[in-house]
Amino acid sequence: MKYLQDRILRDGRVEGTDILKVDSFLNHQIDVELMNEIGKEFNERFKNNNITKILTIEASGIAIATIAAQYFKVPVVFAKKTESRNLDKDTYESSVYSFTKDKTYKIRVSKKYINDKDNVLILDDFLANGKAANGLIDIVNQSKAKVCGIGIVIEKGFQDGGKKLRDKGINVQSLAIIDRFEDGDVKFSAC
Ligand code: 5GP
Repeated sequence: MKYLQDRILRDGRVEGTDILKVDSFLNHQIDVELMNEIGKEFNERFKNNNITKILTIEASGIAIATIAAQYFKVPVVFAKKTESRNLDKDTYESSVYSFTKDKTYKIRVSKKYINDKDNVLILDDFLANGKAANGLIDIVNQSKAKVCGIGIVIEKGFQDGGKKLRDKGINVQSLAIIDRFEDGDVKFSAC
């Protein structure tokens, strides 16, 4: 997706050897027009999969999933990272290790909102080692729903999450795939 790649080149900031900051348009301030193009593109790529629900993870996934869901015309469910008295007691749970924060956290989804009839599309902002995606897949599997695909805004192709998921036969669609960081610049793979 050229529009997204251009934006990453213009406003993304490489931190250290493996982190891309996109706070000015995706992770903190949100460019809604860009988000809308992203939502349309996900719909183009998964429109024939009979998606009944979009599953994401708080916080950054919510905006992406919500805008995309307007094209799919299905509800969004987001996995919660914090325990709260408001959340139903009956939940699916999984553990996710975050390498950006170097900690493991639990994610939870109420059993009310995904069931064995659902065809689920998982959406997230980044794919690195695949821990977040695997946690969400685990939740879908517990619910006996079907994972119909995974849509990612930015995949870091030099980390192995995407390869492992594709090797399992999952349809992973990433709108921008970063091949490497070179002297602080982003170099994309063809996608
Ligand atoms: P994974 O679980 O695939 O290892 O990492 C994906 C999750 O970690 C995403 O949900 C995202 O929040 C965060 N993440 C991983 N790499 C990056 C990065 O380079 N930049 C930002 N902003 N977030 C990242």
